[in-house]
Amino acid sequence: MLQSTTTGAALLDGVAGSVSTAVSAADVTRRYGSGEAAVDALRGVTIDIPRGQFAAIMGPSGSGKSTLMHVLAGLDQPTSGTVRIAGEDITTMNDAQLTKLRRAHVGFVFQAFNLLPTLTAEENILLPLQLAGRQVDRAWYDAVVERVGLADRTTHRPSQLSGGQQQRVAAARALVSEPTVLFADEPTGNLDSKSSHEVLELLRDAAVSFGQTTVMVTHDTDAAAAADRLIHIEDGLIVADEVTK
Ligand code: ADP
Repeated sequence: MLQSTTTGAALLDGVAGSVSTAVSAADVTRRYGSGEAAVDALRGVTIDIPRGQFAAIMGPSGSGKSTLMHVLAGLDQPTSGTVRIAGEDITTMNDAQLTKLRRAHVGFVFQAFNLLPTLTAEENILLPLQLAGRQVDRAWYDAVVERVGLADRTTHRPSQLSGGQQQRVAAARALVSEPTVLFADEPTGNLDSKSSHEVLELLRDAAVSFGQTTVMVTHDTDAAAAADRLIHIEDGLIVADEVTK
């Protein structure tokens, strides 16, 4: 089990509105294009992800899942509405402020792993901390690497690792900075069933063992089964939302 030496909650004490909510959206819309060609990818989404929850966003292709994740993570601006991460309204931030906020509060795991090919596993894992100018807590790094099962692979480059191992490096990279919220975008989309299972177990363990808030976009019903909450989106609207654990 993962045991963190510091908790994200302690870091957030004193930030208004952040005590119980990691990320929230209030009446968010996102329109692409204009006029007759306009596409309303989100049509008024209100959602609140409490701290420590592992939520899955599901829905058919084109329903708005990626748009919602990008808006919640501060990678895309909504057309209207408000998004808060750790209590801070990110919709009014400029690019520099957003970058700073993402470095402090957000972790990502992508379908395509997105590791830097010239860096070793260890260098990839530590890169976000270095970019943020943060100290590496070596005990925590070791615990994360051990938990993801990569202790004997830290000097390997991505091309020397299997897809499942690469995704575990990506998960370690996201977890090592203890983000307020980890966004996982189809994290099992490129993996065989055994590797998928390992990555899902990891995400589940991170939520259960140290309360890692996680928002995962997925098509995969097995992946969704690992989550605490299933949010279904269709045609830019939330059509079902149930807490399952
Ligand atoms: P999902 O992730 O559920 O497949 P998306 O969020 O990618 O859905 O897309 C929602 C809708 O918005 C779709 O109709 C898609 O075609 C449209 N869309 C997404 N990105 C863009 C874009 N950059 N420009 C125009 N339309 C887009």
